[in-house]
Amino acid sequence: MKSHAKVVVIGGGVVGASVLYHLTKAGWKDVLLIERAELTSGSTWHAAGGMHTVNGDPNVAKLQQYTIELYKEIEEISGQSCGVHITGGIMLASTQERLDWLKMAKARGRYLGMELEIISVDEAAELFPLMDKKHFKGAMYDPIEGHVDPYGVTHAYAKAAQIGGAEIVRRTRVTDLKQRADGSWDVITEGGNVRAEHVVNAAGLWAREVGRMVGIELPILAMEHQYLITGDMPELVGRKEQLHAIDFEGEIYLRQERGGMLMGTYERAGVPWSEVTTPWDFGQDLLANDLDRIAPSLETGFAHFPALEAAGIKKVVNGPFTFAPDGNPLIGPVKGLKNFWVACGVMAGFSQGGGVGLALSRWMVDGDPGADVWGMDVARYGDWTTLAYTNAKVRENYSRRFSIQFPNEELTAARPLRTTPIYDRLAAEHAVFGGYCGLEHPLWFAPSAAEAVDHVSFRRSNAHPHVGAECAAVRDAVGLLEISNYGKFEVTGPAAAEWLSRVMANRVPSVGRIALSPMLNDRGKLIGDFTLCRVAANHLFLIGTYAAENYYLRWFERHLPPSGVNVRPCAMEYVGLSIAGPNSRALLQSLVRDDLSTAAFPFMSFRRMEVGMVPAYVGRVSFTGGLGYELWVTTDYQRALYDLLWKAGLEFGIRPFGGRALNAMRLEKSFGTWAREYRPIYGPYEAGLGRFVDLKKDAFIGRSAAAEEKESGGALRLMGFRVDATDADALGDEPIWHDGKVVGWVTSGAFGHRVGASLALGYVPAAVAGAGAGFEIEIIGERHRATPLAGAAFDPGGALMRA
Ligand SMILES: Cc1cc2nc3c(=O)[nH]c(=O)nc-3n(C[C@H](O)[C@H](O)[C@H](O)COP(=O)(O)OP(=O)(O)OC[C@H]3O[C@@H](n4cnc5c(N)ncnc54)[C@H](O)[C@@H]3O)c2cc1C
Repeated sequence: MKSHAKVVVIGGGVVGASVLYHLTKAGWKDVLLIERAELTSGSTWHAAGGMHTVNGDPNVAKLQQYTIELYKEIEEISGQSCGVHITGGIMLASTQERLDWLKMAKARGRYLGMELEIISVDEAAELFPLMDKKHFKGAMYDPIEGHVDPYGVTHAYAKAAQIGGAEIVRRTRVTDLKQRADGSWDVITEGGNVRAEHVVNAAGLWAREVGRMVGIELPILAMEHQYLITGDMPELVGRKEQLHAIDFEGEIYLRQERGGMLMGTYERAGVPWSEVTTPWDFGQDLLANDLDRIAPSLETGFAHFPALEAAGIKKVVNGPFTFAPDGNPLIGPVKGLKNFWVACGVMAGFSQGGGVGLALSRWMVDGDPGADVWGMDVARYGDWTTLAYTNAKVRENYSRRFSIQFPNEELTAARPLRTTPIYDRLAAEHAVFGGYCGLEHPLWFAPSAAEAVDHVSFRRSNAHPHVGAECAAVRDAVGLLEISNYGKFEVTGPAAAEWLSRVMANRVPSVGRIALSPMLNDRGKLIGDFTLCRVAANHLFLIGTYAAENYYLRWFERHLPPSGVNVRPCAMEYVGLSIAGPNSRALLQSLVRDDLSTAAFPFMSFRRMEVGMVPAYVGRVSFTGGLGYELWVTTDYQRALYDLLWKAGLEFGIRPFGGRALNAMRLEKSFGTWAREYRPIYGPYEAGLGRFVDLKKDAFIGRSAAAEEKESGGALRLMGFRVDATDADALGDEPIWHDGKVVGWVTSGAFGHRVGASLALGYVPAAVAGAGAGFEIEIIGERHRATPLAGAAFDPGGALMRA
């Protein structure tokens, strides 16, 4: 084994082999993969090899499409067959909700260029004659489903990588990792040490253990997974087309395997494997079968597909594979560890492995993944993902793999975990809570305890009128909202403002003022949107998205100078309350000595005030788009502040409101938000944030790309629409049609109660954006007229905010 390499990839499963191949393809030849045993010795060897393009996150779906298209390329380079069988497959629906879900998945597939088709039960039965039609309501056909040979795929990647210059060392375990002062790594193995510039943790079943070598606890857990293979079936004799299906309500997937069928299940009572430590001596082993555990799925399977029962079970496979809490991979560089990369938690290696390898290799070679990989970024998790939290969430995710998650459905595992001091106060007001980053936050308020439950639906739910009443209170009187669920940072030091000016696209505000600012990457794309509050010359308070805290910190740390600036995350040290509505000023004025008149404390002001006895930062700003204030206090003061505002607010018509109402109101103002309207695939001018980019100030990251985008106008345009919807609003990811063609996609949608209309924001090509008419938005399979909005639907001139 060589003693030096630019990159050491740890792990020769399908993911490590793909990363290795993609690194050579990107031009890095001095790359070495170290495998503990033989290639495929973790989860890979016993996988069922199924693959599909459909994924809840369109950006992950694109990478799945890429993976499937890649197999031809690696077969050609390596001469190794991947055993690809593109059979096409059907997804069966037994309920109306599932059929609606399939229609939405098909609609989403439209702007990804997928040719998905909704078919009748009879058509489905022609493609999949084993089904008993009486259990089903319809299906979706995907021509690009199929399966591969896991051994073949992994070896094809590995051989193609070797042809590209990579080396592979087998039967050698990495036992430790040590970082030197210059940032390079000593990779300590059973066969000697290798000094490497970069290390990639692609250790699959052992990725947690490799993470622990560098002091991190990755949020992944392996679950046992069983599939069985039936005896030969007369029904399959002479069939040319192979059968492939998912039966959601039965919670099973099926495909032809030679003369019989392979049937796997994500059972409700899933069992984790090696909850704390994965044994190093686990090799190409299988786990003991437990058919009792999957008995309910088998029973449904045999009822839905009667011929399976008659065929009998020939073989059962029970093997472990890893999941992150949300079921998506964990990839990227790890905050705080220079040149340490992860590519793990990949639960669908044969659909996702290629995309993971591509994105990670680009990130390593070019400094940017080249695609929107937020949904897979390791930085989307923070300190709340303890071992036990991960355990609870992974179990839940596994057991719900084939369940619908409704847009208004809040999952219950690992909750409540983190609460703010006013949690019980809000609960007493009949708050319905959501979980976000492990933290409880109010979504809406019901009139009574009995009604404080969401009826899950794709359509307007029981919460609709109550959210409407909350919006009316904000429009006509004053609403009180908990805003603790934001990320917060304190940036201090003599170079704080100068540094922020380089990292942020807008100018840094003067003392006592607030500025909104996009953060851009080198390609001029949006990687954050912040509220910058200037406390003092050398002290700024930043508010951004909490889920992206590690994502931001990783970027900040990459660009921090050696001294002069200190960035401190303080999300839960400062919790917040917002009051919004025409009476909010009078309410706050009754509690502070400061003059709150617009002349003395105008829109976008920020100041330390005493609210009663509570020291608070007060900002005159509101995401509702009307008159409003945000108050930030240290956690110990939040209860007192809440009680004070509540008591004083009674005479002003105060009413609590939650995240649903806030979402509706920000859409009325066409205000975007991170991970929806603002993502690394959009530029600031495309996103309508051009007024927050200051091209006149000194150089900042992404400036030249932003200037070019301003000049060209960008390829896309974020547009607001009023939608002629009836009982279901757009949610996000619906296609936008123009003149009978799909031209774009919705990023957010909701009913705007203050304006009495269904609203949506979405991106379309700039060339189409000017067309005043001819737009439609497809909601649950039906197209609705969508009228472009010239400005915000509510208070377009912004007079209320500034009044
Ligand atoms: C029963 C079953 C059925 C499945 N069916 C499908 C399916 O139909 N479709 C699909 O897409 N996916 C399926 N999967 C999931 C699929 O197997 C995984 O997504 C995939 O194998 C993950 O690959 P990996 O490379 O991340 O991890 P692994 O396959 O676990 O590979 C990790 C490798 O790293 C090596 N390693 C670990 N630590 C070290 C160390 N310290 N030093 C050196 N080497 C080390 C290990 O020996 C191993 O070879 C299935 C899984 C199971 C168990």
